[in-house]
Amino acid sequence: MKIKLIFSCLIMFSMVGYSQFVTQYPDIPRIDVHTHTNNNYQGIRNYLALRKAMLSDNKIDLAMLINLNGEQAIDTILEVSQGRITTCINDYEPQRGLAHKPEEMSSSLGKGYVGYKIWHGPSSRVLKEGEGGIKYFDNPAHEPVLTAMEKAGMPGASIHIADPNGPFGNRGKWATDPVEYWRQVIGLERVLQRHPGLVIIAAHCAWLICQDAQIDFLRYMLSAYPNFYVDLAATFQYFYLVDHANLRDFLIEYSDRIVYGTDIGSIRRQEEIPAYIERYSRTFRILETDQMVEGGFFGMNPVKGLNLPKDVLERIYYKNAMKLYPGLVDKMNKLGYFQD
Ligand SMILES: [Zn+2]
Repeated sequence: MKIKLIFSCLIMFSMVGYSQFVTQYPDIPRIDVHTHTNNNYQGIRNYLALRKAMLSDNKIDLAMLINLNGEQAIDTILEVSQGRITTCINDYEPQRGLAHKPEEMSSSLGKGYVGYKIWHGPSSRVLKEGEGGIKYFDNPAHEPVLTAMEKAGMPGASIHIADPNGPFGNRGKWATDPVEYWRQVIGLERVLQRHPGLVIIAAHCAWLICQDAQIDFLRYMLSAYPNFYVDLAATFQYFYLVDHANLRDFLIEYSDRIVYGTDIGSIRRQEEIPAYIERYSRTFRILETDQMVEGGFFGMNPVKGLNLPKDVLERIYYKNAMKLYPGLVDKMNKLGYFQD
């Protein structure tokens, strides 16, 4: 009985411990650049409630979200979220041809969209077997739109071009064929070569984050292409696969090219808010502390915290995003935030 009681106290203590993580950096606002809140208004109100709870209990200021869905409702989403969620035009089936036309790029920026989300992940996740289509992001069919984006200053927001490819023996469930994975990644490089003025923020670090040599290739990509950036969405659960010192060194050296993101979906029910606070807290603990953390935003693989310096955190959490997404400085200023 006594053992049972101690055990349940330990469980309760560890749960309370997570939700009560208090940041050392209450003064740094955070922008989640990779979210799928969509135009689910209850979900948006739940986000506002989550934000309020994290601010009072964890001293964490989740200032803004960039929504990669629900483009038809851009103005309503901004209004319902009290100016805290802004939206991108988007395309989740570019394998069947891009939905948006070249002439829409500058007009979309004028309407307040902050980027063009293109989900070009493995075509097998979209196309049925035997169905013809555009397999890779690097395809002549996309050129007119990419050229118009480059000209208009429309960033490629959280462009998804591959799936996570783990090391031999632990490839993971997403990318079992490394040859196909590298075809997708090298295609991204060719697009960057053809469009030096196009800002591309690759989703999930372009998935060059699951092996140490992939991180070296990411160093090469960021060094070679000055308009190339990466978001951290959904990568935290793979940090255990790579060398801790290597990952930390990479995040510090390229901190002006990395933006914070989670891949959060819509928070459909109020009861889900505490679990989402815990998931957000885990990502902040990984970046800010040297503690062992029981998983990322997704997954439960323990990972040692990276204890990043404050100036690095500032860039990753909000400064880079403010620089990259058109109109974000104004939106943040309206909420009372300033870049410096
Ligand atoms: Zn996503």
